[in-house]
Amino acid sequence: MIKVVATVRLLERFRKLSRVIGPIAQDVSESHLNYWASYATDFTCPLLFAYLGYRQHWNWPSAIFSFFSGLTVFSLIEYSVHRWLLHGSGGLLFRLHESHHKAPEERSAFFFPTSIVTLTLVWLLLDRALHLQYASFFTCGVASGYCYFGILHHVEHTTRINQIPFRWLQKRWAAHSVHHRLDHCNFGVVTSFWDVVFGSHQSSKKRNRS
Ligand SMILES: [Zn+2]
Ligand SMILES: [Zn+2]
Repeated sequence: MIKVVATVRLLERFRKLSRVIGPIAQDVSESHLNYWASYATDFTCPLLFAYLGYRQHWNWPSAIFSFFSGLTVFSLIEYSVHRWLLHGSGGLLFRLHESHHKAPEERSAFFFPTSIVTLTLVWLLLDRALHLQYASFFTCGVASGYCYFGILHHVEHTTRINQIPFRWLQKRWAAHSVHHRLDHCNFGVVTSFWDVVFGSHQSSKKRNRS
């Protein structure tokens, strides 16, 4: 009984704290300075981890394989975070993402050091703690995926589909546009692969016909 009361009090404290932190986090994530600072950080990360890999013993086949493994793992993380965290019930992340859905043209991003801090922790775990060879190139692949995601998402919300010259990019644009209209599908921004695997893919053509 004492444990239940303590847990309820703890949850109440978390709720109060999130009521205070929530609006501050929202203001920071929607500021222009944070938006462009996060792009600068996201561009720097792949270069940093490629450099760290370059300084170790390496060969092309293993470096390329590790890089593409990182890219693939990122696409699954991107899908999972978007589907189960950002569209999960309640919470600060859900509210931040909800504001993006309500005003997609408004610029918003995670607090700008988030990517470099997270990726450095991943690199420290894989390279320094687990001593995995090619951890730097793997992390470079994850960082490149995140950077590509940021560019793609920016293009999708700042450019009209008829201004996009490439067919593949138009397809990505259309898929994300469907997600903004029907938020239970097309969670993948960089690829539709995981939407097809997990059964959340909605074709934009099918949607237009219905
Ligand atoms: Zn969006
Ligand atoms: Zn969403």
